[in-house]
Amino acid sequence: MADPSAAELAFRLVVAGVLIVAPTLLFLSFWRFLVWLRDDALIDRLADRGVLEEARHPSAADVLATATVSETGVRWCPDCDARNLPTADRCRECGDHL
Ligand SMILES: [Zn+2]
Repeated sequence: MADPSAAELAFRLVVAGVLIVAPTLLFLSFWRFLVWLRDDALIDRLADRGVLEEARHPSAADVLATATVSETGVRWCPDCDARNLPTADRCRECGDHL
């Protein structure tokens, strides 16, 4: 195979650069689009009516608990009614023993 010329090498580098950067730009654009779609005013109105059972801005522990544990495995704090992981010894909100 013949050595590529300088122009062909530059073209290959540009193509490689586009192929590396394009997926990242597409992902970030999609992320911005999803943020743009989110209707915070609607969520606040539903929360004010009591329609939403979940917190408006759930913590990472809430999301992890709902994603990984069935509802029966959740340990509820008797003092503050916070949801805790089944392996938790202490409440993540108030620190009391479960
Ligand atoms: Zn608690």
